[in-house]
Amino acid sequence: MLNLVIFGPPGSGKGTQSAKIADKYNLCHLSTGELFRKEMEKGTLLGREVEKYIDKGLLVPDEIVLRELYRRASDHLDSPGFIFDGFPRTLVQAETLDRLLDKKGIPISLDISVVVEEQELFKRILGRGEDSGRSDDSVEIAKLRLNVYKEQTRPLLDYYSGQGKIVSINGMEPVDRVFEKICLAIDTYLVSRKVIPVVE
Ligand code: AMP
Repeated sequence: MLNLVIFGPPGSGKGTQSAKIADKYNLCHLSTGELFRKEMEKGTLLGREVEKYIDKGLLVPDEIVLRELYRRASDHLDSPGFIFDGFPRTLVQAETLDRLLDKKGIPISLDISVVVEEQELFKRILGRGEDSGRSDDSVEIAKLRLNVYKEQTRPLLDYYSGQGKIVSINGMEPVDRVFEKICLAIDTYLVSRKVIPVVE
C-alpha cells in the first residue's frame, strides 16, 4: 500500500499535483477542502457548518475534519493507497491519522512538501479566485489562510521530518516538471524504500 500526504501552503498546487498522482498510481484522492466545498455547494448541514470557518480563512475544527475523513477513508480501504491532500493540517490531525493507519498496518509512506515563495502564492490564489469563484480566494482571506498555515500547519514539517518521511519539492516550476520530480521521489521509494529528502 502507498499512502502519501501532500503538504504545502494554499496556492502551492497541491490539488493539481494530487489529482495527477492519484491517476498515475491508482490511489484514492482524499481532499478535505474539496469535500467541504462540495457539501457547501449542496447546502448540506455539514456544508453550512464548515462554511462559517472556510469563508473566514480559518481551519475547520479537528473533530469535524477527522470524523469526515474517517468516514470517507473507511469507504475506500480496498484501494491500493491514499493521497491525503490538505490533510493533516494540525498536529492533532497528524497524530490521529498516524494512530489510525498504524492500527491498520498501513502507515504513511511519504510526505511530499511542495515549496513555493509567498509572492507567487498570492499571485496564484488571486488568479484562481477569478476563475473558480472560491469564496476564500480573496486578498484578505488569502492573507489569513497563509498566516493560519504558518502557525498551525507548517509545524507539521518538523513532525514528518522527525519520522524521516519528508520529501521537499520546488513547486515554483511548471506543473509537469513538478510532477516529474514528485514521481521520481515516489518511484525511488517504491523501488528501494528510500526517501529522497530534497528533489532539485
Ligand atoms: P483547501 O482546498 O485544502 O485549501 O481547503 C480549503 C479550506 O477548507 C481551508 O482553508 C480550511 O478552512 C478548510 N480545510 C480543508 N482541509 C482542512 C483540514 N484538514 N483541517 C481544517 N480545515 C480544513
